[in-house]
Amino acid sequence: MQLTERINRIQISPTSAVIAEADKLKARGIDLADFGPGEPDFPTPDHIKKAAIRAIEQNYTKYTPTGGIMPLREAICAWHKRELGSSYEPKECAVNVGGKHSIFNVVSVLVQQGDEVIIPAPYWVSYPDIVKYAGANPVYVATRPEDGFSVKAAVIEAAITPKTRMVILSSPNNPTGGVIPPDEYEGILAVCKKHNLWLMGDECYSHFTYEPHKPYSIASVAGSKEHVIIIGSMSKTFAMTGWRIGYTLAPEALVQATIKLQSQSTSNPTSIAQYAALEAMRGSMDSVPVMLAEYDRRRKRIVDGLCAIPGVTCVNPGGAFYAFPNVAPHLANGGSGQALAKDTTELAKILLDKARVALVPGDAFGAPGYLRLSYATSIDRIDEGLRRLSRFFSRAEAAA
Ligand code: PMP
Repeated sequence: MQLTERINRIQISPTSAVIAEADKLKARGIDLADFGPGEPDFPTPDHIKKAAIRAIEQNYTKYTPTGGIMPLREAICAWHKRELGSSYEPKECAVNVGGKHSIFNVVSVLVQQGDEVIIPAPYWVSYPDIVKYAGANPVYVATRPEDGFSVKAAVIEAAITPKTRMVILSSPNNPTGGVIPPDEYEGILAVCKKHNLWLMGDECYSHFTYEPHKPYSIASVAGSKEHVIIIGSMSKTFAMTGWRIGYTLAPEALVQATIKLQSQSTSNPTSIAQYAALEAMRGSMDSVPVMLAEYDRRRKRIVDGLCAIPGVTCVNPGGAFYAFPNVAPHLANGGSGQALAKDTTELAKILLDKARVALVPGDAFGAPGYLRLSYATSIDRIDEGLRRLSRFFSRAEAAA
């Protein structure tokens, strides 16, 4: 079949591919230790579910304004101001079909053929492909485990060329859990202002930061608005991945351009999900610290367990719910022992087939030598997975 050059530029999301493979094995009754999905294992809070049920009963089941219902846009601006210190108005806010869609819209209206977009690596898998689909080129800059995988302003500045249009940051980061400290983030904003670039701040994990880090938005900085685009999502903070509600906060002209694109593609996000999101923004946030405390407990368990495996090192993640261990000594050319696999893509496949552990290879995130394990799963499953990993990796030690 002849497909467009445009669609052939991108690949299916590797994280979705791992999840699909794991689901196939689970459907065959195979007991997997599943560290694949980047998705809260908590249910959506009751008050949010009830708001959606009410919306159905009240017949809020028709088209809404393309950019989202006005009460939700107002509530998002008020929530973001209260929680993260920004000052947006509803005309600077659009509701989208998940944060991924928000990013897709913004990139589509701001970058084109020949433009460059700076993305720190390891990166969330969708950034490069969304940029490529828009015809532009991703330019990767490195982050280091010794910096907690936080990107440095100087490293970004060194990568800027006359073609650079945008910098995309996620803090806390998927896959590393890295958090950019506010002073560094402000340094990056200063670089973007100096070179007249857009700074996109992906805040999908904003409320899953561990002490001493705090939720932070670059939009809280006075005078930032002209260069900043904020991407937010209900998915993680409110355990609402399936509802598909995200949002964009940005200068009015940019937001209006994304709404124009949305008017010719998805139209409005699902009306019922918008009413659920309205309750998330206005109602109690009591479930958030409860989830965070549990993630924190799991974080300690999984990081300690991984670090206890010979040839595996793991930085303590500052946020999100991913552990990102380095397993390079177990790979070809990585160490003195017998290699378990040539790269992490092969290693992840062997781990699935032999150890029955599902995880995502670092290769997918531009991080050869690393694995991503989501700890949005129970402590019992974490312990079981660690036992399997420990057995698997120590056989390699024995064979060495
Ligand atoms: N940004 C990052 C860094 C993510 O990890 C994700 C989800 N995995 C998203 C954005 C998008 O989430 P959603 O589309 O569900 O809002």
